[in-house]
Amino acid sequence: MSTVLELREVWKIHPGEPPVESVRGISLSVEEGEMAAVLGPSGSGKSTLLHLMAALDRPTSGSVRLAGHAVHELADRRLAGLRAHHVGVVFQQFFLLDSLTALENVATGLLYRGVRAGRRRERAAAALDRVGLAHRTGHRTAKLSGGERQRVAIARALVGDPAIVFADEPTGNLDSANGAEIIALLRELNTQGATLVIVTHDAEVAAACPRRIELRDGRVVRTTRVSGASR
Ligand code: ADP
Ligand code: MG
Repeated sequence: MSTVLELREVWKIHPGEPPVESVRGISLSVEEGEMAAVLGPSGSGKSTLLHLMAALDRPTSGSVRLAGHAVHELADRRLAGLRAHHVGVVFQQFFLLDSLTALENVATGLLYRGVRAGRRRERAAAALDRVGLAHRTGHRTAKLSGGERQRVAIARALVGDPAIVFADEPTGNLDSANGAEIIALLRELNTQGATLVIVTHDAEVAAACPRRIELRDGRVVRTTRVSGASR
């Protein structure tokens, strides 16, 4: 197993009077093939940590290594390239372009990868098939249900075959039936080899993850590993 992500003594301090210490000395690593949940009450630093792990933000101090690259040392353009090639992100609010079709939305996940248009469409179709939406490729995402929209967002995150996929409250805007389907899909993608880190309040999402990292006040207070996580 190789290490995909490694944080060492990472701090994120927002300047102000007084400064806000959102992440306070977190060290952790994620191995290829893991499925980990990051849990904690509102304000405990989950979203800040996710942004640091996904190279969407840089730490105030400490080091973040992602897919073999030192995030804390990269200039903005290199950081954007690192994200485009190695990271997929899924958000609670989906962030789809609703004037586009499902296929076009997923293909945008390859825009910064130097993949030609025809090949982008082929790969987008394959990614939609993986998330069970082969029959919806030509539909505008505005017309899809919440669960389907989140599947499109997951396909977009996966289409470039990233080293790691992050999700911030992926079931937060879904009813329980659609949420359960999304959890089952994430589990399946993990058994097929995807490395996943999921920030969640949802006990059912957490229960589906073999590893749980609990935050309080910007620190990791507990890490548990379960061999037979529920499906
Ligand atoms: P969570 O996702 O667990 O709810 P966040 O990571 O959003 O927590 O926030 C952690 C803490 O950091 C909170 O106290 C929040 O108010 C603060 N915080 C987050 N982002 C900023 C920012 N850009 N500037 C100042 N404080 C921030
Ligand atoms: Mg949050």
